[in-house]
Formats: sequence, structure tokens, C-alpha cells
Amino acid sequence: MLMYKRSTTIAVVLAMLLSAGCGSSGGAGNFNLISIDEEWQLGQQLAQEVAGQVKFNTDPTLNAYIRNVGQKLVAATPAPFNSLPWDFHVVQDPSLNAFAIPGGHVYVNTGLIAAAENASELAGVMAHEINHVVARHSTEQISRQYGISILAGLVLGQNAGQLQQIAAQLIAGGAMARFSREAEQEADELGIKTMAAAGYNPAGMAAMFRLLLAQEKSHPGKVEQFFATHPTTESRVQDAEKRAAQIGNRGVTDEPGFQEAKSRAA
Ligand SMILES: [Zn+2]
Repeated sequence: MLMYKRSTTIAVVLAMLLSAGCGSSGGAGNFNLISIDEEWQLGQQLAQEVAGQVKFNTDPTLNAYIRNVGQKLVAATPAPFNSLPWDFHVVQDPSLNAFAIPGGHVYVNTGLIAAAENASELAGVMAHEINHVVARHSTEQISRQYGISILAGLVLGQNAGQLQQIAAQLIAGGAMARFSREAEQEADELGIKTMAAAGYNPAGMAAMFRLLLAQEKSHPGKVEQFFATHPTTESRVQDAEKRAAQIGNRGVTDEPGFQEAKSRAA
């Protein structure tokens, strides 16, 4: 379903080029030049690049747990995202970080899993990352930075060097991975709703941010990347707390699988 025939893709790209020429795009906060299907295609290519640039943890129990949390959260996102294929990867890296790239590929560092105190804190960061994808923040960013002609080439797989560069930036928290305050707020707001709908205590997100802020004081190097890409302030944490309180908690704060995963990530 997601694989385009090449001729179809070219037709789509031509149509995009024409409409871009007319200067017709959405609002300022919604500058996106590729469709969701194209984003998923691009994501496959980027994920291959990322796989060549990071070290994955291969513990099957840990990976299965992260996948399970991820799929529960994805099932609580709106259509069409809840029925698209998502991939959840565990990166062997002691720094406390998680990131998502276009096309539903979410990466969680072992350092973050080991630092989280319970399942709802881990789910909070994952729900946040998932909703950067749902809100299409990454493709907006790439659209802004590169424009239509390069983006079209990327979707068609014509720009291997550029693809590699974008993947490197997404991993290292470069310009491509830096989100605005508005984007952060949107991912928090949507993420908290996703958590609650998936059966997790929505207060877990703010709790994880508090933990990250505390780490910034004690071990700044371990959270540098997270804060470079996801600006986090006290007022943002308070907003997340208020939102969670408004929704109320009918979900779980922890679950047995988490503690097992945490010990395997340490
Ligand atoms: Zn973010």
C-alpha cells in the first residue's frame, strides 16, 4: 500500500512542484510539502541511514517491551497514523535521549530507559516523540530547510549524500532535529492525550521532564542532546502537569515489564 509505482510518484512530485510554484501552502505552522505516504517512504530510507550510524541494543526482551509500549501508544493516535507501520528501536547509548525521524521510526536510548523510574515516565517520552511524527514536525523541518526540489529527490532516492547528512543531523540533534517551542508544546499536548488513551498515567510525561531537568544539573553531558532538540523549561513542565491533572489518571503508573526492561538497559 505504501509502495508507489515510480510513475505515480513522479506524477505526484510534478503536481507538488506545480502547486509549490503557485505559492499555495498551508499556514505558517503547517509548511509541509510531502504526503504521509511519501513521508513513510522517505522514513524507510532515512531509517537505513540511521541503522548504519548508531549501535542498536539487541536484547530481545528489552526490544519487545519497547515495541509493545510503542504500539500501545500508536494505537491511541488518530487515523491514519494508528494503522501505519511504525518501528521502535533501542539504541545502545548511555545518554538520556530519544528521537523520532519521519515515517514512524522512533529511537530510545538505553540510558533513558535505565533512568526512567516507571513505565509511565518512559511512555511519556515515547508519546512525545510519536506525536512529533503525528504532528509532522520533522517533515516540516526538512521542507523548510531544503525546499521542494531536494525533498522530491530525497523521496525518489536520488540524493544519497543528502539523505546521509539529514540522518546524521537527526541522530546528533543538529538543526534538522531542533523543534520550536510551539512544536514542543504541541507534541506534549498530543502526547499526554495519547498516554491517557493508551492506559498510562498521563502525569508520567511531566515526571520524566523533571527527572531530565534534575540530570541537567547533576550530569549535563548526559542530557545535552535531549535539551538541544527539545527545549525544556520549568514552565513547560508545569504545563504538562496541568494538562495531565485536567485529564485525570485512569491508567497505570508502572507495569512489570518495565522494571525487567530497565534492568536489561542498565
Ligand atoms: Zn520534542
